[in-house]
Amino acid sequence: MAVDRLLFPRPETPRVSVERVPVDGTCPECGATSLARYPVANHLGPRMVVKCQRCLYPVAVTRPEPDDHWPAWRSPARDWPASRVG
Ligand SMILES: [Zn+2]
Repeated sequence: MAVDRLLFPRPETPRVSVERVPVDGTCPECGATSLARYPVANHLGPRMVVKCQRCLYPVAVTRPEPDDHWPAWRSPARDWPASRVG
């Protein structure tokens, strides 16, 4: 983990949004080909999802990888081994 994960400046735009990266594939629910991968925070915690952009059907929900930089506020001690007291 780098320090840049802990320090991030005030947003310079009036609205903050995430980038939805287009993904190849077809929605199994409606048949649309407009799938996108992006970060979400749902009842399971931080996740990366691939969702249909027409009907929002969740095609895939996975745990974020370090390269996803999600969540931005992840604890710096997250990858440390646990001590004997937990
Ligand atoms: Zn769909």
